[in-house]
Amino acid sequence: MRIDIISVVPDLMRSPFDGSIMKRAQDAGLVDVYFHNLRDYTTNTYKQVDDYPYGGGAGMVLMIAPIDKCISALKAERDYDAVIYMTPDGNVLNQGTANQLSLLKNIIVLCGHYKGVDQRVRDLFVTHEVSIGDYVLSGGELAAAVLCDSIIRLIPGVLGNETSALTDSFQDGLLAPPVYTRPADYNGHKVPDILTSGNTPKVDTWREEQALAITKKKRPDLME
Ligand code: SAM
Repeated sequence: MRIDIISVVPDLMRSPFDGSIMKRAQDAGLVDVYFHNLRDYTTNTYKQVDDYPYGGGAGMVLMIAPIDKCISALKAERDYDAVIYMTPDGNVLNQGTANQLSLLKNIIVLCGHYKGVDQRVRDLFVTHEVSIGDYVLSGGELAAAVLCDSIIRLIPGVLGNETSALTDSFQDGLLAPPVYTRPADYNGHKVPDILTSGNTPKVDTWREEQALAITKKKRPDLME
């Protein structure tokens, strides 16, 4: 998979891609991530990427021209399956969306800033609009990092068996059961006996029951 991220402050988001699973995936050649600074696609001396909103009002708006130039340059090199705009009024990200996007080959992720992007960018170039929740961030960079992490860890081969995404919350519509590790007794607080019994079928049943009980208690909406 190839991910091209367009931003006015790409440095803000490099670090999440430089460690842990996202780095491992890149090192293994399972995903290539490229950052594009929108200012490199301006034609004016001041590298201006934003301007005042028509009709007045607070805040600046990212202009269409540099975004068009950047997306067109990328599209001239290869086909893209999706151009995703990170935006609080987009479809709220969930595991189903992450699963679907993880199957794509080439995607562009566009980060907004200030008041967002000129509406014509959304009308002309964007195929998916994704929000990471009902709150407003200063820019799309952290949201894009969240989106990319949720996608990259699902690409086959990225996670080993020990961290398989299949046993994570939401993957089968339920929350994950509790997990424990050594010591089995911490100052009198003991691990459930079943987990140290060595009886795998019973452990599996216990985990299923726990997942159901926790989901019913914390997220009854998922049971529906
Ligand atoms: N004026 C916009 C609105 O009210 O919907 C908010 C703009 S926000 C300050 C600047 C940028 O941050 C957005 O263009 C978007 O790219 C990003 N952003 C903010 N909150 C987000 C969220 N919850 N999910 C995804 N992206 C978000």
